[in-house]
Amino acid sequence: MMTTSTTHDLPVYHSYINGQWVNNASNTTIELYSPSTRKPIGYIQAMTKQDVNEAIVYAHAAQKDWEALPLQTRAHYLYRWADELLHMKDELAQLIMQEVGKNLKDARNEVLRTVDLIRYTVEEALHLNGESARGDQFPGGSRTKIAVVERVAIGIVLAIPPFNYPVNLAAAKLAPALMMGNSVIFKPATQGAMSGLKMIQALHKAGLPKGVLNTVTGRGSEIGDYLVEHPGINMISFTGGTNTGMRLAKKATMIPLVLELGGKDPGIICEDADLAKIAPQIISGAFSYAGQRCTALKRLLVHESVADALVDLLHDEIKKLAVGRPEDGCTVVPLIDDASANFVEGLITDAIEQGATLVTGGTRQHNLIAPTLFDHVTENMRIAWEEPFGPVLPIIRVTSDAEAIALANASEYGLQASIFTENLDRAFAIANAQNAALTTFQLSAQKNQAWVPKV
Ligand code: NAP
Repeated sequence: MMTTSTTHDLPVYHSYINGQWVNNASNTTIELYSPSTRKPIGYIQAMTKQDVNEAIVYAHAAQKDWEALPLQTRAHYLYRWADELLHMKDELAQLIMQEVGKNLKDARNEVLRTVDLIRYTVEEALHLNGESARGDQFPGGSRTKIAVVERVAIGIVLAIPPFNYPVNLAAAKLAPALMMGNSVIFKPATQGAMSGLKMIQALHKAGLPKGVLNTVTGRGSEIGDYLVEHPGINMISFTGGTNTGMRLAKKATMIPLVLELGGKDPGIICEDADLAKIAPQIISGAFSYAGQRCTALKRLLVHESVADALVDLLHDEIKKLAVGRPEDGCTVVPLIDDASANFVEGLITDAIEQGATLVTGGTRQHNLIAPTLFDHVTENMRIAWEEPFGPVLPIIRVTSDAEAIALANASEYGLQASIFTENLDRAFAIANAQNAALTTFQLSAQKNQAWVPKV
């Protein structure tokens, strides 16, 4: 179980291997700092390649028995996991706040959403059916032949989530993999590992059979490649930055990969949009958790005729944002680390140098970046294309839907898009012309306004 270091009086999180909480082979740890207080908050294990091998061996040893259990039995373990998480929601939310700098309300919502997600996953899995096909469906085929298609476990799934939802995005990988009878190697983001490991304490309390889930902690840059190339891994489920995802895709060979990557999510504002109504929605979409969300609004493509009015409304809304410490419930909080803030500052500097209009913000204190709005952004600026993962919203003015669509599609990303208009036909026409959409399509239309996100 988790223990407390005698030297530093900070929690030391152990790895979860074969149902035990253990130190790594070399007895080395990584010290984590709060992005908000900038003070040390605890330690995680810096696992070695030997530790990684061990974790994978245990995962294989446990997998067949786990898969052999009735689906209903696995469902019970996962339901118990959700119940245990609910019991520890306040403790876990505090830790999420401390470790990744998200305010307590959002952190608690993350835990509650995770509980719902695990239960939903179980219920979906309980209703998954196989298929069968007769041979004569194929030209010249025989009706006496029948193909039975079943969903079976793939073996050992390597789950790598990002830092920004250290519980929810981790559980989104773990729950489906476990439910279908796979063993899991869970490698949390280094900054986010304490929250991830605490979530695994709930799974341990739920009585998960030993070896079915094992954790691997350590810098992705150090053990990541070793894990990804390991012949004992049968599938990788990754969420994170596009560059990391591309690296993984090159390293992993002949195994299924699920990659959920970055975005430069456009919001297209048509001239018929209800500006007063959408301004608070845009600000919430762009600046919640300081913009550190894959589906944050990351650029606005605004029809020229309403741009001045919208800029004024957005500026007013930004003034209402609480900027500062997550411990004080702020929305715009310090970024996850100084390197991220340096990157965002570079985008801001470039935009100013290239002639964008700085409406508000642009300042920085350590890793806290003031909510920043740029108008008159042009295609030669980095902020037009690069994902800040920080509180910076650029406006590119357009004169037609076609121009907005072309700009939306010119991005190297295709994660999510929003359309703001009063006209549902127009919303669908723009949505259909866009490339954005990784996996699913959602429509959320209100009486006076269509807002069409593709996730
Ligand atoms: P990241 O730097 O790419 O890291 C993501 C994960 O990959 C972390 O666990 C990281 O571990 C690990 N990693 C790093 N190098 C690795 C390697 N060589 N091999 C294997 N694993 C490696 O991303 P992030 O900063 O945590 O998250 C922000 C990004 O995630 C943004 O681009 C955002 O848009 C994207 N995101 C996408 C979605 C979606 O659903 N599409 C959701 C959320 C976030 P370490 O922490 O140890 O380096």
